Amino acid sequence: MAHVKHQKWWGWGEEGVFFNYENKPAFAPFVKEAIGVTLRPRERDTVDFSTADVPASKAPDNVLELLRDINGADNVSTDDELRVVHWAGKSVLELLQTLRNDFHRIPDVVVYPGTEDEVAALMRAAVEHDLVLIPFGGGSSISRSLQADPSEERCIVSVDLGRLNKVLEIDETSGLATIQAGVLGPDMEEQLNARGWTLGHFPDSFTYSTLGGWAATRSSGMQSDKYGDIADIIRGLRMVRATGTVYCDLCRPRPPVRACAK
Ligand SMILES: Cc1cc2nc3c(=O)[nH]c(=O)nc-3n(C[C@H](O)[C@H](O)[C@H](O)COP(=O)(O)OP(=O)(O)OC[C@H]3O[C@@H](n4cnc5c(N)ncnc54)[C@H](O)[C@@H]3O)c2cc1C
Repeated sequence: MAHVKHQKWWGWGEEGVFFNYENKPAFAPFVKEAIGVTLRPRERDTVDFSTADVPASKAPDNVLELLRDINGADNVSTDDELRVVHWAGKSVLELLQTLRNDFHRIPDVVVYPGTEDEVAALMRAAVEHDLVLIPFGGGSSISRSLQADPSEERCIVSVDLGRLNKVLEIDETSGLATIQAGVLGPDMEEQLNARGWTLGHFPDSFTYSTLGGWAATRSSGMQSDKYGDIADIIRGLRMVRATGTVYCDLCRPRPPVRACAK
């Protein structure tokens, strides 16, 4: 299976990483005084996945075969835990739904494309086989935008962009970089910092959100007063659609299908 880092299925962050206030003796009294909430020590460190009652995948065999042809067998999964990780974002409502086994229509299959051509092939397959594709960046959505309609009958494919995680090039003169959409904040900054640059975009969800997710949600961050919102920072996009790839002049280097107006 593709090696893409995921958050835990039942909450925010990675398994085994916690916020601790034991070494901050003034914290609990402060919370009590400020908002009247009494903090108690954590009762459990994890939630066993065996407590999840996961609806079976409805992906037809011919669709799975096609997806494996497009993305490679290692990058296509019907694993229950992965489907749950991809079914929702991290709003309180979605986390409660997950913990209550209130799954309605969860993805039938998760795919991890590794190239723009693979994404384009997925789009064509979706049209041909009437599939529902849901792009997945870091899964930090808090607007339920990763969830399918509960009444959805068609096969749902979660398209995890996590393998598209590279800073492809940096133009040192203009300060413009070409970066793949699925890169998580820290991985992107590491690649940029190594060459003396930063994107300057730091939403609170930075650790588990992606450049593509920021663009799709018009994200704003902690230093947006200095660098601008993501809509100010991004100067051009390549968008893969079923009918072709739309791009602007700044994003011309890779073979275009058709251009959008400047
Ligand atoms: C603790 C916490 C703190 C947060 N802090 C902030 C904050 O400071 N500022 C802020 O703006 N938001 C914040 N958010 C909200 C969330 O992190 C942002 O909306 C973020 O931009 C989502 O990015 P993501 O990669 O996780 O996208 P996802 O949650 O994976 O997806 C979000 C939406 O974008 C679509 N999408 C994702 N990638 C692509 C792509 N490559 N192409 C097309 N569509 C795509 C998805 O289908 C979905 O509809 C926070 C959320 C949490 C849980």
